[in-house]
Amino acid sequence: MEKAKRVILCKYGEVALKGANRPQFEMTMMKDLRRRAKRIGEFEIYAAQSTVYIEPCGEGDDIDLMYDEASHVFGFSGICVAAVAEKDMSDIRRVAAEYIPGCLHGEQTFKVEAKRADKRFPYKSPEISAEVGEAILEAVPSLHVHLHSPDITVMVEVRERGAYIHAGQERGAGGLPAGTNGRALLLLSGGIDSPVAGYMMMKRGVTVDAVHFESIPYTSEQARDKVLALASILTDWCGEIRVHVISVTHIQEVLRDTCDNDYFTILLRRFMMALADRTARHTGAQALITGESLGQVASQTMHALAVTDIMTSLPVFRPLIGMDKEEIIEVSRKIGAFETSILPYEDCCTVFTPPHPKTRPELPRVLEQEEKVNFDALADEAWETRRTYYIRAGHEPREFEAN
Ligand code: ATP
Ligand code: MG
Repeated sequence: MEKAKRVILCKYGEVALKGANRPQFEMTMMKDLRRRAKRIGEFEIYAAQSTVYIEPCGEGDDIDLMYDEASHVFGFSGICVAAVAEKDMSDIRRVAAEYIPGCLHGEQTFKVEAKRADKRFPYKSPEISAEVGEAILEAVPSLHVHLHSPDITVMVEVRERGAYIHAGQERGAGGLPAGTNGRALLLLSGGIDSPVAGYMMMKRGVTVDAVHFESIPYTSEQARDKVLALASILTDWCGEIRVHVISVTHIQEVLRDTCDNDYFTILLRRFMMALADRTARHTGAQALITGESLGQVASQTMHALAVTDIMTSLPVFRPLIGMDKEEIIEVSRKIGAFETSILPYEDCCTVFTPPHPKTRPELPRVLEQEEKVNFDALADEAWETRRTYYIRAGHEPREFEAN
């Protein structure tokens, strides 16, 4: 029996609700898919009826690899591989009988649901379901129909260009298409939280740049490589990312030698916020992103956040603010960052940390401490150490010349 053609169907999420700007969102999603497809083979990609179709053109095109790529594209709520039949009942039956047995993984019960987007098709949905159900039972006699809670639901979608048969869709990446919602700068450490925060804002269509603060020789080259590795993992979702690396070694030494020990962390974080603000203005980012979660550590209490927030007039997005560590770890695993995040390299935030950091820093005391150092000169000096790496999906990080 001739094998029916396979197609990936990507169904719109929120984009389906968009009005006049919908074509723009669609174009962005298609561009993202085309960029990914280019690395895999030759695919025809087109949109119709709130769905993008991805059709392999050549024999050897790897549809599974393309499916994996498509599941990383923001803007789609559902995704599946379907077999394509002619809009003819006997061909639909034939294709269902050929395709569905290979989709089964020990399921014993099934039902068929039909959707008739093309109302000219002469069979009504219940008739299509009955016909296809019968064809599947003939092909796999051990299956049983169960209409209320089947192990598997077979879908038949009669659309413009043909009839599409699949065994249910998986969730797509969700969110809004990459790059449709402004540019923001992520404060990226080597930890678990900040890569997750970056991913969550990317998911809302934000183009994300990153800034990382290091403290060589107190932090190592490996720690920087780890951060670049985390940024590379994020390119699975966004395609490319710029990572600015700034040394805060001297700032930390001066703070250690000059200020009260329990204010060390909050003062360092104020420097980090000020330098992030400067980086954002330099690169055209309109907001900052951090991986802070309320109350997780001393520097993430409401008092501490207030004292660091005033170092920037840009909005600071903290997408993890209401999440528990376990919930954050779940996302970290999902995006493939967790194993890298838990590698044991130090972060500048753990260099010279006091045993009892202030959990309720008061602004007048903070300012009093800060007056002991020349804030602007130290920030200017740190700014001059800035180096920038560019990472494209599937490529090694590349350092930029002076910017
Ligand atoms: P993470 O897991 O992201 O490191 P954390 O729980 O360790 O977070 P902190 O070390 O207090 O918390 O950092 C809070 C946030 O500050 C981080 O999520 C990140 O956005 C930012 N941050 C911390 N260290 C750095 C750094 N070295 N460079 C850039 N940003 C940093
Ligand atoms: Mg950290």
